[in-house]
Amino acid sequence: MWLRNDLRLTDNPALYHAWQIGCQRKQPVRVIYCATPNQWQKHNLSQAQLGLCQDLLRALQSELSALNIALDIIEAPDYLNLPEKILSYCLTHKVQALWLNKEVPFNKQQRDSEVINTLLSNDIVSHCFDNDLLVNSPITTQSEASYRVFTPWYRRWLATLLATDVKLLAAPNKALDHPQSPSCSHTSDQQKTIAIGITGNYRSDLWPASETFARERLTDFIENQQPNNTFNYHQRRDYPAINGTSLLSAYIAVGAISIRQCYLAIYRACSEQQQSIEENQWLKELGWREFYRYLMLNNQGLSKGFAFNPHKEPKWLNNPQLLSAWQQGRTGFPIIDAAMLQLNRTSWMHNRLRMLTASFLCKLLLIDWREGETYFMAHLIDADFPSNNGGWQWSSATGCDASPWFRIFNPTSQSKKFDSQGHFIRKMLPELSTLNDKDIHWPSDQQRTALNYCSPIIDYATCRERALKWHKR
Ligand SMILES: Cc1cc2nc3c(=O)[nH]c(=O)nc-3n(C[C@H](O)[C@H](O)[C@H](O)COP(=O)(O)OP(=O)(O)OC[C@H]3O[C@@H](n4cnc5c(N)ncnc54)[C@H](O)[C@@H]3O)c2cc1C
Repeated sequence: MWLRNDLRLTDNPALYHAWQIGCQRKQPVRVIYCATPNQWQKHNLSQAQLGLCQDLLRALQSELSALNIALDIIEAPDYLNLPEKILSYCLTHKVQALWLNKEVPFNKQQRDSEVINTLLSNDIVSHCFDNDLLVNSPITTQSEASYRVFTPWYRRWLATLLATDVKLLAAPNKALDHPQSPSCSHTSDQQKTIAIGITGNYRSDLWPASETFARERLTDFIENQQPNNTFNYHQRRDYPAINGTSLLSAYIAVGAISIRQCYLAIYRACSEQQQSIEENQWLKELGWREFYRYLMLNNQGLSKGFAFNPHKEPKWLNNPQLLSAWQQGRTGFPIIDAAMLQLNRTSWMHNRLRMLTASFLCKLLLIDWREGETYFMAHLIDADFPSNNGGWQWSSATGCDASPWFRIFNPTSQSKKFDSQGHFIRKMLPELSTLNDKDIHWPSDQQRTALNYCSPIIDYATCRERALKWHKR
């Protein structure tokens, strides 16, 4: 069984079926993970996410070993070399079949077809499973076209989902009779700790590498949602100073928790509390995740760096100094800087702030959204190609059902609205902590000098006009 962004034992379709067949046929199961450093680099995959994956794999190694299953790392520079490496592994270990869960981005699909074809020409069959989506059947308009607007898509998607009997698959079970895979030993001194060849620093205090922890975080989030028997996520989710969101994205991105586990948790809570699942805001956010996957599956260009609406791309400005100020959190706009520092320090950024920083880069600085997409991929612990690409295209107005060009966030008024007392800014920019609740959103020139805080890199009103003018033209 080939593990990828599905780093868990519970509700893992490929692992579950491989294990079942192994038990029925009394044949050992081996699990592989492919370390492809050049490919990760090409994808700008963050060190934080790779570090989390490495630690999750280590935890899985000991859990799998207790089930008599070996976990091996296959090393290949990039996807191009994978088919022959996996074939050679299969021949060495006399593997008869490969089990894997499908993935959405185009070059991952291409990688899988090449591996599957190479194995097939050596009489090794592959079994692929749906795993990453809640709805796997095609969703089309009445005229059989793809949807281009989120809301009608969501209605259709939700109706299909609610008519589906979503069930979780059990983790492989020790009680079942299963032969040990050769070279898999229970004794830790004989077992080499696996490594995927990266240093991968990340904030393990914020993101403990454990499937069990991910499940507990989901349970806590759902329980904390209902202090008065009413879900309050929709009221709390926009304020970066509070923990108003689930903080599950890193676990969802690497598959330490399945999307079905998330859905069933909210579905059951809604049923118990007699709340409408149709109106539930958290499920709608899971819907956005799935919408971006739907778009990517229906439009190969999105995997290749193209905009959904290329005609909406302005002539982007090339300004390395402004880009670098944005990346380092030195724009002189406190909420933007605090947001970028949150990303640089914790490898995560609140959704409201992702929208603000993205709008700032694409609409006010007129810097290509691909620069922002790349920087986020390289720094987010929850880096997820379809969601990140979708979020950036939404923010830059080039996407499907995107935020229109004329919707340009004013960072200062957004700051006053969503961090009214400046708690978040004070946490990230302690040099501004002595300012009162009004000035903290926009310090005066004297305050900036006295507190050693940078001057604004742009004039908001001028840049807003420039963006609007471009749009009208
Ligand atoms: C420019 C930009 C880039 C983004 N890049 C990523 C990314 O690389 N990876 C990523 O997982 N999310 C991305 N998002 C979406 C969103 O910001 C994060 O999913 C969310 O902040 C994660 O925090 P949470 O787990 O507490 O979310 P919650 O609010 O608790 O939401 C639950 C889950 O729903 C999904 N989700 C929520 N909002 C969105 C959304 N707008 N689009 C897609 N999925 C969503 C995530 O899986 C999230 O974990 C991006 C958004 C923008 C605007």
